Amino acid sequence: MTRKLAAGNWKMNGLMASLDELKTLVQSHGDVDTDVLICPPATLLTAARDIAGDKIAIGGQDCHAEAFGAHTGDISAEMIRDAGGTYVILGHSERREDHEETDENVRAKAKAALAAGLTVVICVGESLEEREAANTLDIIGGQLAGSIPDLVTGQTLVVAYEPIWAIGTGKTPTLDEIGEVHDFIRSRLERRFGAGVGRSTPILYGGSVKPGNAAEIFGVSNVDGALVGGASLKAEDFGPIIDALE
Ligand code: PGA
Repeated sequence: MTRKLAAGNWKMNGLMASLDELKTLVQSHGDVDTDVLICPPATLLTAARDIAGDKIAIGGQDCHAEAFGAHTGDISAEMIRDAGGTYVILGHSERREDHEETDENVRAKAKAALAAGLTVVICVGESLEEREAANTLDIIGGQLAGSIPDLVTGQTLVVAYEPIWAIGTGKTPTLDEIGEVHDFIRSRLERRFGAGVGRSTPILYGGSVKPGNAAEIFGVSNVDGALVGGASLKAEDFGPIIDALE
């Protein structure tokens, strides 16, 4: 069975006081069956780990492809692990855009993350132009092939489908469109990695997931959870999204 995962990406949001939201979430949703992950900014990793204990997983939002060295401002997968993180998000469209990350970069980072013992959340997604030109599946297929290293297992890989035009915009694809892409991702994973890894890898949808649309999105075939930005910042929004997945 594919495990379910509700993942929150705080992006560049969150000060020490914001961890009160995590405290609330641990109290309300620390014992649910669904896996829950919060990826705070790097400055809050250790403090978040202390609050989350073994109830909620903590992860980074990016890592460097090397384990250590002269890379000012970067953090390594090993540092995330050392701070108590067990996941790292890689290849988010904001990193692909703002930092010109390519599939090759994402793959190298993912290798480093796997070597450090982290589970990787690899993000893929098309732009509006690409969707309008009916290139969505080609783009997603290329990103999957290029960004995911060979050495993943069903326990160490999560794929997040995030149409770029749906992130932070309040717009979402139709349920049929989400289903088409998720079925496609599942078939590509099975073809490349075999049925074991292919079927046990959670495929998350991301892009304007909110309490009001989570249940219908989770009802779509091969949607195993969500990667949530804005609505993960408050426990009162993220809690009901977790409930919808239960
Ligand atoms: P959003 O962001 O939920 O704010 O649209 C999703 C994401 O970028 O992971």
